[in-house]
Amino acid sequence: MAACELFLGRLDGAHDESALSDEERAKAERFRRPHEKNRYRSSRSFLRCLLGAKTNAAPHEVEIAVKCVSCGSDEHGKPYLPSFPDLSFNLSHSENRVAVVVAEGHQVGVDIEAVPDQVMPALWQMLASQRERTSVREIPDWDEQIALWVRKEALLKATGQGLAVDPRNVDVDAQGCYPSSGDLYGHVWVEDVQVGGDYRCSVAMVGSRPVISRLT
Ligand SMILES: [Zn+2]
Repeated sequence: MAACELFLGRLDGAHDESALSDEERAKAERFRRPHEKNRYRSSRSFLRCLLGAKTNAAPHEVEIAVKCVSCGSDEHGKPYLPSFPDLSFNLSHSENRVAVVVAEGHQVGVDIEAVPDQVMPALWQMLASQRERTSVREIPDWDEQIALWVRKEALLKATGQGLAVDPRNVDVDAQGCYPSSGDLYGHVWVEDVQVGGDYRCSVAMVGSRPVISRLT
């Protein structure tokens, strides 16, 4: 078991603009829709204030790099802190909510999703592994399908594989302990977290079961 902190916040309030890096300010300008621009700024500010506090740095000066586990590129992939390689973090946002997980010594991932009103008829087929499809008598209800999506997304964000892996190749079982896709990382644990308000949220940790302390 390993400690993992989960920070939950909202994106529709005020945020600290001075927390953003120059690069993020420039990127924010490229969003056409004002609410998307705002959510981007607000989520990055939320993340940077947390990472600044964790590393004793000014939020806008925290150095965040990316690295791809598949091809080794440093232009895309999972974000990390080059100066604090043991500190793993991950960010997710959906609608007006944001979630950040932070852990030491184990890679972590988080996904939060507002449950869409509109049912996507093909989601189950796009999502469920062979075993998951054959283990149920009928297709689970919409909320349960989204929960499965969120678990897989959190898992693939923890390993750093993200959308490079087809979610149908990831098997998750109902015990909260999930095998990873392939042997690259051993086991990945996924825990659902109740966040209310028609949102689903899951936290994943590679190599250990996370003990989640939740900070709102
Ligand atoms: Zn790559």
